[in-house]
Amino acid sequence: MQSFPEIRQFIQGEWRRGSGKSVETVLNPATARPLTEFAHAGLGDIDDALDAAGESARRWRNTAPEERYRILRRAADLLRSRVEAAAPLLSLEQGKPLAESRAEIAASADILDWYAEEGRRAYGRIVPGAPGTRLMVTAEPVGPVAAFTPWNFPATTVTRKVGGALAAGCTIIVKASEETPATAVAVFECLAEAGLPLGVANLVFGVPAQISERMLKSPVLRKVSLTGSIGVGRTLGHLAVDHDLVTTMELGGNAPVIVFDDVDVEAVATACASAKFRNAGQVCNAPSRFYVHERVADRFIECAAAFAAALRVGPGVQPSTQMGALANRRRLDAMIEFADDARSRGATVLCAGNRPEGDGYFFAPTVIAEVPDNAKVMTDEVFGPIMPITRFLDVDDVIRRANDTTYGLGSFVFTASLERATLVSDALEAGLVGVNTTVLSRPETPFGGIKASGHGYESGVEGVEAYLRRKAILQHPPIHSA
Ligand code: NAD
Repeated sequence: MQSFPEIRQFIQGEWRRGSGKSVETVLNPATARPLTEFAHAGLGDIDDALDAAGESARRWRNTAPEERYRILRRAADLLRSRVEAAAPLLSLEQGKPLAESRAEIAASADILDWYAEEGRRAYGRIVPGAPGTRLMVTAEPVGPVAAFTPWNFPATTVTRKVGGALAAGCTIIVKASEETPATAVAVFECLAEAGLPLGVANLVFGVPAQISERMLKSPVLRKVSLTGSIGVGRTLGHLAVDHDLVTTMELGGNAPVIVFDDVDVEAVATACASAKFRNAGQVCNAPSRFYVHERVADRFIECAAAFAAALRVGPGVQPSTQMGALANRRRLDAMIEFADDARSRGATVLCAGNRPEGDGYFFAPTVIAEVPDNAKVMTDEVFGPIMPITRFLDVDDVIRRANDTTYGLGSFVFTASLERATLVSDALEAGLVGVNTTVLSRPETPFGGIKASGHGYESGVEGVEAYLRRKAILQHPPIHSA
């Protein structure tokens, strides 16, 4: 086995081996070979994490916002100083190229910084009332949180939840992805070393359904936050309703991209392809379905295919790699099915890229042209390196096609016309709209979906608000007998 850190659970401020009977084997997606094995959390570990989050809740809530700010800022600085050490682990266990891993770790530090600052601005308000009265609205931490994070961005998805919860004064238990545990461990090491009091943030790995069942039934918790698939969202959503928990659900997406004929088509095609193949397409808000104006469609397809053909695909840790392996076998199998389905419906599959030989979960960056709207690459979340392209002529019609989906996370429009940009961004049914940009995620702006893509927000002012509840205090002068 390759050198890899020991994976342990972080509970009540201590690193410990899981006491569960089952074991997880972490695979290197570039080779399909094991990187390490670790013991799952047992039920006793989960109960200990719940106790820790419950017992430390009052203390953390009563910690001055300024002190919470200092700890989060220290954790951010530590994480930033460890980019070079943490990035290769992320690439090894997840597959993405080193440059993307470095950027993700650095972005995670920025996210912690944002939340650190924003936690100091969790304002209440005074509402005008009758003389002598005070109508006050205060902000309180919602209470202990259970967070579930995925394998596609194992650093940013953890820091978005931990940062928001801690800044707002909530304690948290994170069940990070068992497939990419070393990155979550690296983030938690920074939190621990930054001086976070014992029990305030806990990290567990185990059998996901067992952990969520045990945790969400606990009376200690007040909130559950998930980034993951719609299916898991539904499972956790039902448990949350049954146990009176508030929820934030960051689920899948299938972002439409509308490209008008007034753009620099080569530049836009290159920007779109670059965003599409980032993290081998395993990005919930990635540009996904491309609707290109008939007049520029041929050129757009040519440029996207040329971009895909030139991408250097290989192990993430190899410095020359521009696109890595898919993170797991399930995604590779899904890509084969998506491509077969599109082919069977008459689309032109331009397998424009290459994949290395071997057992790794590599799929060549692929452009599919002339795709019918009912092909699975158009209707389902692809979550992989396939770029389906279709054509349009009429604005109203393309808006209808873009909105004809149960998803509502990302969406994009490329145009030089201010009028079209405004019209289309108003009409798109999505939580996020990129106008002439492929970047939808920043610490300063709320990130969240509508429809089946979930509800609630992370980042922005809303990212702290998500971990607060409001209390209305209606204060009158003492009552005296007349
Ligand atoms: P999956 O739903 O099986 O697993 C996703 C994550 O959810 C994993 O980390 C897993 O540990 C966790 N999980 C699974 N069952 C759980 C349970 N009962 N309780 C708590 N946690 C549980 O999906 P997958 O096969 O890994 O990926 C496929 C789909 O997942 C993709 O098509 C994509 O839609 C979605 N996904 C979305 C994101 C995102 O960022 N929105 C990230 C990863 C996966």
